[in-house]
Amino acid sequence: MRIVNLNPDTNIGASSWFLDIEGHRLLMDAGVHPKREGRDALPRYDAVKDEEVDAIAISHCHHDHVGSLPVGLRYFPQAHVLMPELSYFLVERVLHNSVNVMKRQRDELGIREYPLFSHDEVDEIAPVFQGFKYNREVDWAAFHKTRAGLISPTLEFYDAGHALGSAGIMVRGQKETIFYTGDVCFHDQTILKRARFEGVKADVLIMETTRGGREIPEGFTRETELDRLSQSIQKVLERKGSILIPTFALGRTQEILALLALMMAQKKLPSQPIYIGGLGRVFTEIYDLEAHRTHRQYPDLQLNESLNLVVLEQGQADKMRLSGGRIFVITAGMMSENTAAHNLALRMIGDPDQAIFFVGYTDPDTPGGRLRKAQHGETFIFSPSGGEVTRRCLIEEFDLTAHANRGDLLDFVGAVGPRTVLLSHGETDARNWFESQINSRYPGIKVIQPKPAEPILA
Ligand SMILES: [Zn+2]
Ligand SMILES: [Zn+2]
Repeated sequence: MRIVNLNPDTNIGASSWFLDIEGHRLLMDAGVHPKREGRDALPRYDAVKDEEVDAIAISHCHHDHVGSLPVGLRYFPQAHVLMPELSYFLVERVLHNSVNVMKRQRDELGIREYPLFSHDEVDEIAPVFQGFKYNREVDWAAFHKTRAGLISPTLEFYDAGHALGSAGIMVRGQKETIFYTGDVCFHDQTILKRARFEGVKADVLIMETTRGGREIPEGFTRETELDRLSQSIQKVLERKGSILIPTFALGRTQEILALLALMMAQKKLPSQPIYIGGLGRVFTEIYDLEAHRTHRQYPDLQLNESLNLVVLEQGQADKMRLSGGRIFVITAGMMSENTAAHNLALRMIGDPDQAIFFVGYTDPDTPGGRLRKAQHGETFIFSPSGGEVTRRCLIEEFDLTAHANRGDLLDFVGAVGPRTVLLSHGETDARNWFESQINSRYPGIKVIQPKPAEPILA
């Protein structure tokens, strides 16, 4: 089979894979690069533009996996779009939100190429989206080819336990199989249960490596980490400080809200409003509405009913009093400029009563990343508009990752038993760790770190 990594970056970027299996062509994911701007953020669709792509399969609705789907469909207008059932309920919201964000960036940052697609375009392509339950085998080849007597390869989504509607993708041809992990989590989170990748066997494996550079400290458990977060929240509220937890809108926000709801139910936290962003609220509602279809813990826990969720209006966070012990779970992981999280953090940084808790990945080159690194009392440049600040607030980090730990992924490689592994979705040190570990533990498996747009025969 022939595979092309369309991510323009070798690190975490715009996930997208071209696959030619037995004469049928599939795109897996159509992401957008979280750190690049304009057309540079797109996958290298140009490298495969002359191919006849029959279908596009989406692993989940994070921007780095789905954010350029309308652009991908411009290259391959005949392709139908397949995704896990629960992603089907999210995808249009995510894409419409992208249009809004890009329009804002055009106005505020002067990025002329934005938006890369329009609301109308999202509405026009929506009818070709199809949602499928996990563990159903689906034909995906173009109709005219199967009519001509060619047998269609199949595709099957496996629950990846990473965010609502996330999946690994199994593609089965007549002779060969390939499995793409997407983003995967092999441990239970507060809401979502772990991935169900049991029994997966494939000739070729495309694997994420997000946590390859991270060794789990001795004695670490998710439970002790959650206890520590819960105690830290209580301490800050006792002294009437406010807490900002920057998160991504889909997944992490709902996991944190579930933790807060459980804490309130156990009287570890007084009942009080939780301030969130608009997109976070939309996804929280979908988590609630689709609870019965989700492989999850606390199936009866409805976040919207259990919590007093208050959506911050534009500019509201700039004026609110912070001395009353408020909790903000705001949907802007990187604290980019012109967001509520950025402006709120700017007000909190110099105040020793306030606290900012990081619970996920933060890129070091973003305001959030610079803040996270700053020592107590250190003066640093937070952002161009925020300027120089001195950190006096409390900063803590909690490891509540939604990505598989590296040891679990390494075991997974052994269970799948592929002849070739393609490493992706991780920094250089993370990919290198996996390459050397796989080489020594499974010497029969060939390891490839595919370069952008380079065709690979696997
Ligand atoms: Zn993801
Ligand atoms: Zn991702």
